[in-house]
Amino acid sequence: MEIVFATNNLHKLEEVNQISAGRGVTFILPPSGFNPIENGSTFEENSYIKAKEAAILSGKLALADDSGLCVDALNGLPGLYSARYAETQELRIKKLLCELKDINNRAAKFVCCMTLVNPNGEILYQTKGYCYGKITHSPKGLNGFGYDPIFLPDNYNETIAELPEDVKNTISHRFNALKQVLTFLNNNQTISF
Ligand code: IMP
Repeated sequence: MEIVFATNNLHKLEEVNQISAGRGVTFILPPSGFNPIENGSTFEENSYIKAKEAAILSGKLALADDSGLCVDALNGLPGLYSARYAETQELRIKKLLCELKDINNRAAKFVCCMTLVNPNGEILYQTKGYCYGKITHSPKGLNGFGYDPIFLPDNYNETIAELPEDVKNTISHRFNALKQVLTFLNNNQTISF
């Protein structure tokens, strides 16, 4: 079964295909022209905006991921604004480490909201996954993307960017959301598209 994955982020596409390998689902990119305006005020709203646009553009079943890093000491920021916190990813990491410079509470979580919609853009299923951990004092590692070099997941001594990608894909917020979507699809095999 092919499902359009509502993103232009190739890292995310690679991750969802690795997570779902052997489960009978392949995720593909949306058609060109996919450029949703993410003006929602929650992960759920933005996830739905992306899924709906991908479904309407492609005429196929679509799944969207809206995700971000929520830092306890910053009241959940950058959260919804994770991709827009500063101009480049390097600057986003610098800004976050600077905000936390004198702060001992480094607790944070990655959040991922996934929304599955039918070809008309109607919601079939929506869920969230989390990955809990801490923000380090400096970036380490080259794997993954985004804030991975400064995120130490609970029970690990390496940042996500230092861990092999197949390890990330068994503990991540994306993994925890997608496994619920795959269970939903498995239990609802009559969905036609
Ligand atoms: P989105 O594409 O609008 O969902 O933005 C998500 C942003 O959150 C990304 O650009 C990253 O900065 C951050 N993010 C989401 N998932 C991850 C991840 O798995 N690792 C690191 N950063 C992530």
